[in-house]
Amino acid sequence: MKILVINCGSSSLKYQFIDIETETVLAKGLVERIGIDGRLKHTPAGKDAVVKEESIPDHNKAVSMVIEALTDPEHGVISDMKEIDAVGHRIVHGGEKFASSVVINDEVIAAIEECCDLAPLHNPANLIGIHACQELMPGTPMVAVFDTSFHQTMPEKAYTYGIPYEYYEKYKVRRYGFHGTSHRYVSGRVAAILGKPIEDLKIVVCHLGNGASVCAVKNGESVDTSMGLTPLEGLIMGTRSGDLDPAILQFIMNKENLDIDGMLNVLNKKSGILGVSNGISSDFREIENAYAAGDPAAKRANDAFVYRVVKYIGAYAAAMNGIDAVAFTAGLGENNAKIRKEICDYLGYLGLKVDDEKNNVRGKEVVFSTEDSKVAALLVPTDEEMMIARDTASLVK
Ligand code: ADP
Repeated sequence: MKILVINCGSSSLKYQFIDIETETVLAKGLVERIGIDGRLKHTPAGKDAVVKEESIPDHNKAVSMVIEALTDPEHGVISDMKEIDAVGHRIVHGGEKFASSVVINDEVIAAIEECCDLAPLHNPANLIGIHACQELMPGTPMVAVFDTSFHQTMPEKAYTYGIPYEYYEKYKVRRYGFHGTSHRYVSGRVAAILGKPIEDLKIVVCHLGNGASVCAVKNGESVDTSMGLTPLEGLIMGTRSGDLDPAILQFIMNKENLDIDGMLNVLNKKSGILGVSNGISSDFREIENAYAAGDPAAKRANDAFVYRVVKYIGAYAAAMNGIDAVAFTAGLGENNAKIRKEICDYLGYLGLKVDDEKNNVRGKEVVFSTEDSKVAALLVPTDEEMMIARDTASLVK
């Protein structure tokens, strides 16, 4: 069975075409600048990427270009679009309606529409992707896989905010959490690598990318996570603030004469590592270089980032009454040994000890704690697309 995995944003569309029997990626690509000008980069496995620049006015055109690229006689990987057995769509927000992935039908589309309120930047774009695929591939089964659904197992005490309960009752204001597909994949791999049933493990997964979140996984279920109603809460991220005193909003808005949209723009786009480093970069590679050159602003951003992750791990150790494993994933978690080491060095009190030699790797699965470490530390490259393809295959079989 061959599955097309689609991650559709407002002006971009990422895809992977996966053979689920062998779990191999046959091709992947990215359509960018939809509605602006248009660019498609298509990479068949084991071959060079091909780039096409042409007008892409809407998502229908983007999806038709993906189908053309996949079936192209030269750099395609199938001869007919009928070989696309199913499509898996990444959907950002499933609210309380979806605790697992589902086959897409009219009812599901209506429910995703209802969640647009909770993710106004993401869900509408995800829906456009679904509609474009339905139009161009009528009759092909499609599945929705939600960023939020893994966290629907969180207990009420973990998802409840300390605000009047009527806001939950009226508007469903609560913690939802994101990166669920990644946290589910990584925690599953941790159990497999350690050779233990996931039902017996307490795992903290640190998904450290541009967007970053930490998740407490107990007995295979998410019991708490750092992102909230939106992905703004929790860790200090590339450009997002993460946790802060909510009264800061009014204080800065008054001082800087900002309205609420302007303030949210600051918290989403100008804060985090970028803001704390006084504008050096949102990319940790540049922070690291500046830190190595002795820049105090880079050190400040680095240290605040690490400290926030450490605080969350400590909180989840308390929430789960202990930790068996800490896993690192995503751009920073997979590529930055120094950050992994700095975080783990705080966790000596849990009995976690890093083997520096084993930690000196990038992008491959490894247990990098010492043999006598009481808590296992792991690097696990995430694979959200494979998880989406697996869910899709198992639901449409
Ligand atoms: P996104 O949330 O946008 O998917 P990523 O998972 O790509 O983000 O993570 C981006 C972060 O990971 C950046 O801070 C960057 O410095 C770091 N990163 C990504 N790839 C590498 C790499 N090859 N080497 C070092 N750092 C990397």
